[in-house]
Amino acid sequence: MLAPIKPLASWKGQDRYFGKVVPSLTGIFLSGGCSWNRCRMCGYKNDRNSCISREELITHMNAQIAWVAKNNAAGDYTLGKIFTSGSVFDPHEIPCEMLDSFGNLFAGKSVIAESRAEYVTEDALLRFLDSLDQGQPHPLTVAIGLETTNDGIREKSIDKGFSFEDFIRATEVCHDAGVGVKTYLLMKPLFLTEHEAMEDMQKSIAEVIPYADMISMNLCTVQGRTDLEQYWQRGAFRPPYLWSAVKVLLDAEVPVSCDPVGGGFRRGPHNCGACDHRIVAAINEYSLSADKSVLQRVWDAECSCRKEWEFVLDYEQSWNMPLTK
Ligand code: SF4
Ligand SMILES: [Zn+2]
Repeated sequence: MLAPIKPLASWKGQDRYFGKVVPSLTGIFLSGGCSWNRCRMCGYKNDRNSCISREELITHMNAQIAWVAKNNAAGDYTLGKIFTSGSVFDPHEIPCEMLDSFGNLFAGKSVIAESRAEYVTEDALLRFLDSLDQGQPHPLTVAIGLETTNDGIREKSIDKGFSFEDFIRATEVCHDAGVGVKTYLLMKPLFLTEHEAMEDMQKSIAEVIPYADMISMNLCTVQGRTDLEQYWQRGAFRPPYLWSAVKVLLDAEVPVSCDPVGGGFRRGPHNCGACDHRIVAAINEYSLSADKSVLQRVWDAECSCRKEWEFVLDYEQSWNMPLTK
């Protein structure tokens, strides 16, 4: 066993989990890297430990888990969030022995683990639960990046490589095993106008409600070394307006969480610069409290850039994507 190694990132915070605000510990672990490795907006796929053997990968990942255990008192949090540069349940990326190590690290607590839909199997879930589950409520939730319920947008604008049907199958496997489902949706992938992006998000939230225990909306950011970045550098992409995010959250029938990463910066969701900070703060506060009055206040406060956003919604034209080859 190697000496403890710091994961890519690790921090404590608070999260809303099955309707309660709980102290959380998030770890982003360096793994073998995403096997799919194609999504147009994704920069995480560049984080990979792919030149080493399976045994070395296990040793290296266990060293990261040891670091987390050493640097965080177990009593400080009740929810562990595991992210890798891909899927926790992909056996090529993360050898299945690691599920035992993660389960032992978080035994008796709740865990959210991120995975693509196709790796969600009964075997993997039960193996994880074996060490994790000590009778606590909601021991495990799988977070799946569905991004949108529209298969065409998921294929053309994201290149995600799985369908809404695949996602539904994964949610059934989870629920049959007593495991929760958190769904990530992506606001404004490539090639959508602001208006199309809002419509897609509103439709996706409505359509995913029957399958998800929690919904989280990610606002598209421009990450380095991605397809999306190349379009953005040529002026062919603008991240979503924060106004769009507020409107979608206000209209949603269920609480939808949102962490506006990069909010107010050119590469992240932004408005005019003057109103961004307070809107980002309101979205973060709403994500924890689910109190819509926080959002309503920033919506009612307006700003001169609201007119610009409304103009964009009315006049932005969509790109033409051919349906045939
Ligand atoms: S978004 Fe997820 S599935 Fe897509 S390339 Fe990135 S890590 Fe892989
Ligand atoms: Zn503004």
